Amino acid sequence: MSATIIDGKAFAAKLRGKVAEHVARLKADFGIAPGLAVVLVGTDPASEVYVRNKGIASRETGMNSFEHKLPADVTTAALYALIDRLNADPTVHGILVQFPVPAHLSETEIVARIDPAKDVDGLHILNAGLLASGGKAMVSCTPLGCLMLLRDQLGSLSGMNAVVVGRSNLVGKPMAQLLLRESCTVTIAHSRTRELASVCRGADILVAAVGRPQMITGDFIRPGATVIDVGINRVTHEGKTRLVGDVDFASAVQVAGAITPVPGGVGPMTIACLLANTVTAACRANDLPEPEGLTA
Ligand code: NDP
Repeated sequence: MSATIIDGKAFAAKLRGKVAEHVARLKADFGIAPGLAVVLVGTDPASEVYVRNKGIASRETGMNSFEHKLPADVTTAALYALIDRLNADPTVHGILVQFPVPAHLSETEIVARIDPAKDVDGLHILNAGLLASGGKAMVSCTPLGCLMLLRDQLGSLSGMNAVVVGRSNLVGKPMAQLLLRESCTVTIAHSRTRELASVCRGADILVAAVGRPQMITGDFIRPGATVIDVGINRVTHEGKTRLVGDVDFASAVQVAGAITPVPGGVGPMTIACLLANTVTAACRANDLPEPEGLTA
């Protein structure tokens, strides 16, 4: 048996199209242009590419994109002054500070400085709390994208056994909260979990967010399970570098019912969900109804 390949790239393209429709409607009906501000500190080449791509993707949907580049030795006070200005700017609905930042800056404190209503990365402690308590949170983009793919693939997730491998604030924990909200029975596994393969084999839905190349092999997977591979790992073999997930695709695809590839699975969903969150934030800021199909 060979699993259905979940095409995250195609789904993300559709989602970006929906975002563009909402942006056009907000502009035409209410004179509101959703705006995303991205702050880059320093000149890390990978971060520069991410920031550039986010700018291109947001402009493609018709929203405003504001890029702020600060030197690597920027003071905490200067960075916070910028965040405060963006918090107060009514044309900015989403704020994202590209991580990692240089070591003299605190990522936790930076996130805490951002207005939770503009925290389109869903990292603010208030948004984590709202998600956990069933409130209207800004949901972290990667888990939101995974949930959309799962709903599209499976319909109702109610009653399913879900195992999330990884417990980071960025991916694992919000993913588990979202699955719990969908009435899954959720297990969160991590580096201290005993008998990990056996725990994973209990899953109807297996989400791998570990950061270890190809660690989850076919023998971790219940036949027919849906596997979401969040991992993005660069591996070099015989001088060639390629991207692989946390799941060993070759063995997993023989066992799973459906599986996301790397690349082309979860990755494209993350940026599409960032745009979706910005539109959601613009609607909330203007007391307009939540746009359909863009939130959790
Ligand atoms: P973190 O490093 O923050 O968290 C990794 C988690 O995996 C930790 O909870 C850790 O457990 C757990 N873990 C590590 N080793 C093992 C092991 N041997 N067995 C079981 N659990 C283990 O990573 P992130 O959550 O930020 O990212 C995870 C992966 O997802 C990475 O590959 C990252 O590149 C990718 N990613 C992809 C995105 C996308 O857009 N597709 C976006 C964000 C991340 P413990 O807590 O016990 O240490």
